[in-house]
Formats: sequence, C-alpha cells, structure tokens
Amino acid sequence: MLLSSNLGYPRIGQNRELKWLLESFWKKKINESELLLNISNIKKNNWIKQKKAGLNFIPSNDFSLYDHVLDMCLTVDAIPDRFKKLKNKKNKLDLYFGMARGYQNKKIDIKAMEMTKWFDTNYHYIVPELKQNQKFNLAFSKVIDEFIEAKNFGIITRPVILGPLSFLYLAKSTSKKFNKLSLLVNLLQVYKLIFKSLKNFGAEWIQVDEPILSLDLNNEYKKKFISTYKTLSKNSPNILLTSYFSSAYTNYNILKKLNVKGVHFDLVNTDKKDLNKILLNFPKNKFFSAGIINGRNIWKNNLAKSLEIIKKIKKKVGDDKLIISSSCSLLHSPVDLNKEEDLNPIIKDWLAFADQKLKEIVFIQKSFNSDLLKNSDYFIDNKSSIKKRENSKLIHNKKVKSRIKSITPKMLKRNNSYLIRRMVQSELNLPLFPTTTIGSFPQTSEVRKFRLKYKRKEISKKTYENFLKKETKKAIKFQENIDIDVIVHGEFERNDMVEYFGEKLNGFIFTKFGWVQSYGSRCVKPPIIFGDISRAQPMTVFWSKFAQSSTKKIVKGMLTGPVTILQWSFVRDDQPRETTCKQIALSLLDEVLDLEKNNLKVIQIDEPALREGLPLRKSDWNSYLKWAIDSFKIASSSVKDETQIHTHMCYCEFDDILDSIEKLDADVISIETSRSNMELLDSFKNYKYPNSIGPGVYDIHSPRVPTISEMKILLKKAQKFIEKEKIWVNPDCGLKTRGWSEVKKALKSMTTVAKSLR
Ligand code: GLN
Ligand code: ZN
Repeated sequence: MLLSSNLGYPRIGQNRELKWLLESFWKKKINESELLLNISNIKKNNWIKQKKAGLNFIPSNDFSLYDHVLDMCLTVDAIPDRFKKLKNKKNKLDLYFGMARGYQNKKIDIKAMEMTKWFDTNYHYIVPELKQNQKFNLAFSKVIDEFIEAKNFGIITRPVILGPLSFLYLAKSTSKKFNKLSLLVNLLQVYKLIFKSLKNFGAEWIQVDEPILSLDLNNEYKKKFISTYKTLSKNSPNILLTSYFSSAYTNYNILKKLNVKGVHFDLVNTDKKDLNKILLNFPKNKFFSAGIINGRNIWKNNLAKSLEIIKKIKKKVGDDKLIISSSCSLLHSPVDLNKEEDLNPIIKDWLAFADQKLKEIVFIQKSFNSDLLKNSDYFIDNKSSIKKRENSKLIHNKKVKSRIKSITPKMLKRNNSYLIRRMVQSELNLPLFPTTTIGSFPQTSEVRKFRLKYKRKEISKKTYENFLKKETKKAIKFQENIDIDVIVHGEFERNDMVEYFGEKLNGFIFTKFGWVQSYGSRCVKPPIIFGDISRAQPMTVFWSKFAQSSTKKIVKGMLTGPVTILQWSFVRDDQPRETTCKQIALSLLDEVLDLEKNNLKVIQIDEPALREGLPLRKSDWNSYLKWAIDSFKIASSSVKDETQIHTHMCYCEFDDILDSIEKLDADVISIETSRSNMELLDSFKNYKYPNSIGPGVYDIHSPRVPTISEMKILLKKAQKFIEKEKIWVNPDCGLKTRGWSEVKKALKSMTTVAKSLR
C-alpha cells in the first residue's frame, strides 16, 4: 500500500482570513482571544480539508501567525536582546509581533527583525539573530500544542519543524564574526526535548525540513548532518527529512547516510538522470517520499506521466515505504481554484490550486492501491485537459515563435559603446549630478478610489482619464518647481508594476482569488502566463507622450523589465523560462521603439527582480544570467545612440552580480543603497563600473525625511568610488507607498543637495 502526504498547507485561509484577522488585531479592533479563536478555525478547516482529501500524513505546525522561522526563534528562545523588554508584557503577542514588525509606543521604540526571501520563492521569512555564546531553551511550545490541538479534533498529524542546521544557516550573527555551528550542540538539546515530548504525546512521525540541502553546502555543514541526525533520531518520532526547490541529488551522498526513517525528494526539480542515480542505491529500510506534485505552480499535474515515474520508483522502493507527496509546502500556491467563477473556462480547465493538488496526490497513491481508478472519470478528464492544453490555439502563436528564432546578435548590442553614446547624449544638456526619481509618485487613497470606481464601471473611462491627467500634471508641476532634471509622469495609472503590463500583453490571465502569502498578512496575486506573449497594444505610450507634451523638461518613459515580469508571475511549465522571458523582452522592445518614435529621449526599464531570479546552486548561475541579461538587452539595445536607457534595481545585495549588471550596458542604473549606508559602494573600490550610476540617497521604505546633510555625506562617499561625472542623484526606489508631504520635503532637499555639489 502506497501512502500519501502533504508538506504544508496555505496559511492564509480560504478567503484570506489570516490577513483580515491580523490587521484587525493590529488595529485593536479585535482582542487576543478573538484572534486566537478565529485562527484556530483556520487551522481546523485546513486539517479537515486534508483529512477529507484522504491524505495519510497531514502536517501540523505548518501554520504560523506570521512566519515559521520567527516561530522557531521563539521556540528556542533566540530573542534578540532589544526585545527582552517585551518579554514580560501581559499581552504575549506583543513580543511576537514586535519581533516581526517592530514595536513603537511613547516609551519604547524597537526596530523589527530583518526579513528576506525564502530561497528562490517570493515568501519572506524573519532572519534569526544569533550572538556568540547564545543559549537556547525551550521557550514556546507551539509545535507540541498544535499537535495536541489537531489530536483533539481526532487527527493525528505529522508535525513540521525547521531543522536545526537550516535554522542556524539562515540566521545572521550579530556579534562579530563567529561560527554559528558552535551553537549547534546547545540547540540540539532543545530539539531533543521537543522530539521526545512529541513522541510522548503520540506523534508517530515528524517532518524535519532542512531546505539548505538544496544549496551548495560547505563541508563543515555537510559533516554536521550526519552527527546531528544521529543525535536527534534517538527517542524521537520517526523522522522524515525533507529538502526542496532543487535537485534532490545535490546532496544525496549525505541524505542516504542519515539516520532518519524517511527522506523526501523534490521530484519536480529532479531530472530523470538524477532520479535514476538516487534509485540505484536508495537504502532499503528507509521511506521514500516522492514530491511529484508541484507545490509552487498552478498547473494541473500530468497524472499519466506521474504514474509512470512512480511506477519506476516503486520497483526500487518497497510498496509500504513509498509516499506520494507535494514537492514542497503548498504555502506557495493559491488555495482553491473553485472560487474562480469568472476565469476563462478553457484555461481554468488546465489549472490546479492547493485543494486540487491534494486530490492529485491522493489519486496517484490510490491508483496504485486499486486498479479501478485507471478508468475513472477523474483520470480521463485529466488526460483530456492535458491534451487540450498541449494543442490549444490560445497558447501557440506561430509569429511569436518564429520571432524568437530570429533574434540576432545585433539585437543584443547598442550601436556604439557607452563612451560614444555618452557624447551623443550630451545633447540632453544635463547638469553635473543630474536628479531624477524612480518612477512612481504617491498612490494616494484618492488615486486608488478612482481606480476602483473605474474598475467597477462606476465612472466612465473619460472621467478616470481626466482624473489621471490632473494627477500627472500636478506631479509634473511639482518636479518642475523643485527643478528635477529628468522627470517622470508618476505612474498613477498603474495598479502594480507587473499587473499593469500583464493586462496589456497577450498570453497573460488574471485570477480573482489566486492569493499567495508574501509575508505576515501580505499576499500577492501573481498573473498567470499561459501562452505565447505578444503586445496587444502600446502599453505606456499614451501617458508618457501626455507627460512629455506637458513640459519642456525631459520626461523618462517607464517600463517593467522582462525578468521582473517573468519572476513575479506564475509561469508556463511547458517551455523553458528563458523562452518566456525572451517573448516578454520582444514585446517590450516594440514598446521601447514606440516610445522613442514618440520623442521620449530617456527610457527606464526596471529590473528589481533580476537578482532574486538567481538559481539556488552556483553551477546554474551562468546559464540564468546569460538569458536574463540577453532578455534585457533584447528589450533595450535597438534604440539610437541618442536615447538614454536607464535601469533600476532594489531589494538585495548586488555584490556578487556586479559584472552582470555591467553587461546590461544601461546608460544609467539607479540602485538601492541608502538603507545600508552605501555599503554597496565598497564593492566599487575594486570594481570600476563603467557607465553612470545613481546610488539611492533617500530611503523610501521609511516615512522619515532624510536631511540635507546626510544626503550630502552619502554623495561625498559615492564620489570616492565613482567619478563625479557619472553620478546621478535619486531616491532608492519608487515613491508610491509614501505620502506627498514627506515626498515633497525629501525631494526638495535632494535637489538642493545636488545643486550645492555642482
Ligand atoms: N518604477 C517603479 C516605481 O517607481 C519601480 C518599483 C520597484 O523597483 N519595485 O514604482
Ligand atoms: Zn525599486
């Protein structure tokens, strides 16, 4: 008998209840007990759903009020000193949410812990802070409590816990450099306590997540795996060790030696060759968890194909030791496709969200346990959906496919080198230390209100457009008044920098409820790329043209880059990401040339997600960077020398991809640096960036208005590393989340600083 399991279920609830509850609680509209009672209902619903689906292994402790890594910090008492004041508060959640979001009242002002991306997903976790000689204790029993909670509903779960080695690896050290692994022995004491107590309460299995196994690990970490799991497996429920997001073969030589009862493999990211190598000597006494259902996309599984793969595995792994599973936690997929009533039914037929994926898992399991299912309607329908999708006219566009084939090396290169372009572009007549912004201006509640009314058809297109024109003109007037050199139209017409373009491109579709957690109460609703991409209509020309016709100053056209559009969407699984990305790039090229034709002399193509698209393993970096850079260049290189191309990047450390950024050959790059006090610039000590660069001098992530003197200091520092002729002065990202009053003050100071430096 095969078994079935799920590694984690979405936390946000069927209708994003988690978001509404958290936000009401933070606004003090509900109290702690109301919050916890309702939260308990979300968990209960999730468990019941999974039980009904027929899974053998149902997770608990996969849920979190904010983030599972934060939960782990509290569990092992890794509470940074600055939060100790909150420890004895009556309201226990003050500490928890204080660590996540910062804590501020009249007397106390504590900065939140840092947040960063969870591997290559769009989920953000709270980064643990560890100091030298840190002591751990079992301080928070959530993992045990939730097991008991589910047990009280009659469900014996398989608790999930982040493994000790991944916990240490993902943490940052706050005292000067020390080896985090020196804390392992003490940390394991806490884990041992937890495991023992879970066993006592009746847990048969525990799922220990060690996602760092999908990275290139150094030897020191590798070695610790063996001893760690030897220690942990004593007096513990059966351990299922999981890793996900890259080929399971990466660290297989460690995995097969570990003293655990079962090992989970992400088969979505493991190719045939690697799987064969694994099966060649998979230990007979271990359970094999086959992560065959993709936890990160929205496509129906090709069940017939999966059955073939499982059949192969079954030959090498005992029947009673084979578990059918999701590839990773379903946290990364939307909850339930059935809610999408307005979706094009042809495309809807190709999709599966979390609830549908549970069904797929159980189908695969059961079809091995009983022959009847092979003739079931469910299976027949699945085969027909897969076939229809393969051959659909909606997907395949001959013109797009042949255009991809006709990309020439010439299309990847500007006509002349930066030095020559620079001379030609001097006709733009820009002063030393030219000033600009990153694109968006405040999206006030009024702007949002008008957009909503327009969407609901409560106001006409004309009324909406007139309103946007008025806002755009206001923004332009303001920029003229404070004398910004290259001005923007303000992006008032855009809801979101990817959605706006997706709506105007063929090959994209939008769901109504396809929400996925990004962090805490925040969710995103990525567009779905289902087919070949082409431009249905000019996308930004109208607004850029309008702006340029309203001012004598130079207006910058604003586009979102191909990699970022790709990265922040659900993408096709029937062709390489590279192909999809290049299709987007060609559509953007059409737009760039249209902007140029319409007299826009400066065009910015934002690529904030370029860095986050980097594969988890270094050996895969080069091939990604090659097509990512080529895509940007396809979109940007066919313009005249006179046209100045800008790009913008934020959210991350760029040190390790500086040479790739150089290869983009944008005339100007604006880049986030102000939060880290221009630390980034240190990398320019040894590295000469050849083109122009605008290191952000105004941290737009905070409502704080930067002072003239601090911006001056930053720019002075920049001049140590970058020739002053190549420095631009700008904020570090778009201003859409800020209020006008701060923005006005900050930008006024910014232009004052630039002028004083001239
Ligand atoms: N042009 C975009 C804006 O200003 C860039 C946003 C981003 O980098 N995330 O809003
Ligand atoms: Zn940005």
